[in-house]
Amino acid sequence: MACLHLDLKGTIPAPDQFQQWLHWFRSCGYHTLYLEFDHQAAWKTWDFAGTKRYLNDDIRTLTEFAVGLGFHVIPVIQVLGHMEWLLKLEKWAYLRENNKLNSICPCHPDSMKLIKQWIDEVVELFPASKHIHLGGDETWNLGTCPACQEVIKNDPLQRGEMGLYADHVAELCRYVVEEKHKTPMIWNDMFCRDTGKSMEYLRNFPSETVFVHWKYADDVEEHLQLFRNSGCNLLGASALRCNWKGHENSMLFPYNDRFRNLEQWQKQDMTVIHTVWTRPNSVRPIYGTWAPLVPLFIAAADPEAWKKHPWFGITEKIDAAVNSRDPAECLTLAEKILSLPVGNDMEEEARYYLSLGLRFEALHTKALELFLQQRVLEEMERFDFCDTNKKAALDKIKKSLLDDVAIWEKELAAYWKKYKWSDFDEYIACRHAGLIY
Ligand SMILES: [Zn+2]
Repeated sequence: MACLHLDLKGTIPAPDQFQQWLHWFRSCGYHTLYLEFDHQAAWKTWDFAGTKRYLNDDIRTLTEFAVGLGFHVIPVIQVLGHMEWLLKLEKWAYLRENNKLNSICPCHPDSMKLIKQWIDEVVELFPASKHIHLGGDETWNLGTCPACQEVIKNDPLQRGEMGLYADHVAELCRYVVEEKHKTPMIWNDMFCRDTGKSMEYLRNFPSETVFVHWKYADDVEEHLQLFRNSGCNLLGASALRCNWKGHENSMLFPYNDRFRNLEQWQKQDMTVIHTVWTRPNSVRPIYGTWAPLVPLFIAAADPEAWKKHPWFGITEKIDAAVNSRDPAECLTLAEKILSLPVGNDMEEEARYYLSLGLRFEALHTKALELFLQQRVLEEMERFDFCDTNKKAALDKIKKSLLDDVAIWEKELAAYWKKYKWSDFDEYIACRHAGLIY
């Protein structure tokens, strides 16, 4: 049972290229696909919001193609927290919880009405799906506005902020079951925040609700037994890519962390959704394309297939080169990677991306070293130690570095265009932050 979640709030492929990825995902062994369009769709409910990269017809075509390949396709939205994509806009700012971008206010009279309208729209757009995932994680600002605090104060059951959560999200789950005749799913982290005390609110939810236990580090078993004991419908969730230190201006992420998380989940006797995030949230920088995830896509769907793959072991070498902070080591591996054998278009793309990523790491290390040397020189000048020879040498290094950056950038732009990924301008601007000081 291999399930893949694709968060689409960051870099996404054009519709025709997306179909190629779906074809490959199916060949890897995935059969269930969770699609989270976030701001990339043209939602009628949320007028003036979103990039509209995927119009309703594009989504229908894509979904029909996926179903034709044998996928179960399940839409994922957010109904309380992680609505940054909407709340950052002035038009929808009135729905913010305590004027923060993360959550809508569940006590605002428009919130429930509009979210139900959105659920109607999503269900209509994904008619073949028996499920809808309502999100519901990380509602960081819940219960902090005056209206919510008043409701918390007057709650006869004195349930605190989880009372607000249970009332809002459980009503939407009931709406999905009773009015839409679908099965609701939600992330379960909000029940884990107080060492299990909030588990009692599980009973507010319809029995059909599926709770998804997402754990992206080595702690996959934390709180897991509580949910197993509760008897609720439960799935796990790994992360093939999620937030990592330095993601704002790097191209490669630490594979070791991701494989460890995956291996922890593969020891559990349960269905696991393998999540693939494209940015931490809609106001944070994008991570990049799916290409560097190819080893993880293969391993998550079928660990044995990865162990037999000719690339097995390459991810450790990439991590070692990046961690070495040695430009020569990164450049040597960048060259070697280009001769890895490839069995399909996705591997060919991945090979090229990985090579560009290692070249970026080499440039980044050189740029950082140059920046530090120039800063020291500036400080020395304040003490009347003006080393003009060193200054000239550093200027020369800078010129050469900028020439190398320009060559790398040209190749990256050609890669992006060839494989039809979105958001190049944003991506390259953030990578520049790691290269040009
Ligand atoms: Zn509120």
